[in-house]
Amino acid sequence: MKKAVLAFLIICACLSVGCGKQSDMVRKDPEISQPQIEETDPSEPTSRDLFAMDTFMTLTAYGENALQALDAAEDEILRLDELLSTGKEESEIFRLNQDGEGTLSEESAYLYERSLEVNELTDGAFDPMIYPLMQAWGFTTHEYAVPAPEELAGLLELVDLSAVSYSDKDHHISFEKNKMEIDFGGIAKGYTSARVVSILKEQGINHAVISLGGNVQVLGTKPDGSLWKVAIRDPENVSGFIGVVQVSDKAVITSGGYERYFEENGKVYHHILDPKTGYPAETGLLSVTIVSEDGTLADGLSTALYVMGLELAETLWRENRDLFEAVFVTDSGKLYITEGLEKEFLTDRYPVNVIR
Ligand code: ADP
Ligand code: MG
Repeated sequence: MKKAVLAFLIICACLSVGCGKQSDMVRKDPEISQPQIEETDPSEPTSRDLFAMDTFMTLTAYGENALQALDAAEDEILRLDELLSTGKEESEIFRLNQDGEGTLSEESAYLYERSLEVNELTDGAFDPMIYPLMQAWGFTTHEYAVPAPEELAGLLELVDLSAVSYSDKDHHISFEKNKMEIDFGGIAKGYTSARVVSILKEQGINHAVISLGGNVQVLGTKPDGSLWKVAIRDPENVSGFIGVVQVSDKAVITSGGYERYFEENGKVYHHILDPKTGYPAETGLLSVTIVSEDGTLADGLSTALYVMGLELAETLWRENRDLFEAVFVTDSGKLYITEGLEKEFLTDRYPVNVIR
């Protein structure tokens, strides 16, 4: 495909995912005490930018009720941030990590059970008990340090789901080893985008794009019935894109080492850790994008497949073709897509290797 055509598509994608600056609609006049229902022009996008979960987010919706729907969506994101944050002292997860036991709310129980499911599916590459390692590397405080091998060996003992007892009846959970801690960071944003989409639907919205950093979820098609075009960032040049996937009603979620990292003595250390070694995963992948109807699963898998590397990821996909599609970028500059994206993935990079 010609560069100019791709450039055009990327512009469309930027509009689709809301990375272009779009004017926020005027909010309700604070002096008017009666609630006012503001109708918006359904053919025009209404956008909202916010910062939560350590992430710049843009929500774009179409429909007469778009403004109210985005208010509800924003409230939901802030609520989930308060609930799931590992760093906020009021959060349920913070308290659980302090106490080493507790009774999970419905929602945290759901996320724990989904985490177990992804852990099993990926043979342990996704592990929600990763938090002690995240702390040791400084990813939680931005005070980065390469831990000593002995320290890592000790902390690896704590990344151990077999030492978590959990009842799916009453949602009571307890960590059997001292200092074990949980982290839904690899799955929380995918869950959040899925929740936002269902809230927008409840509010009567049929067309929307939720962009939570590298996590995008679209509702329906574009208002004209065509597919949304979601651009996938180029991990080697993060102001550019490697291509575009065309989707409706899907999450398109990317994990890459480039999203959060530090350098020490000329070596780069990023925030996706291999639960088997304690070190940032180095499997020859620069990014993994998962396309799935299930935002929570897509987020968990994007992290896990990055840890697993291309070969194991291919096998996993072949055994679970009905669950997701994927795009992989390798450190040798190669691009791989799964078969189901053959028509939906547009790029000017050749060759595109198709996994069948
Ligand atoms: P981002 O949150 O930057 O979009 P990811 O979805 O890949 O990227 O999630 C990375 C986050 O997941 C880390 O910040 C950490 O909280 C958590 N994490 C890191 N490694 C793992 C792992 N192997 N299994 C589960 N969670 C992980
Ligand atoms: Mg993830």
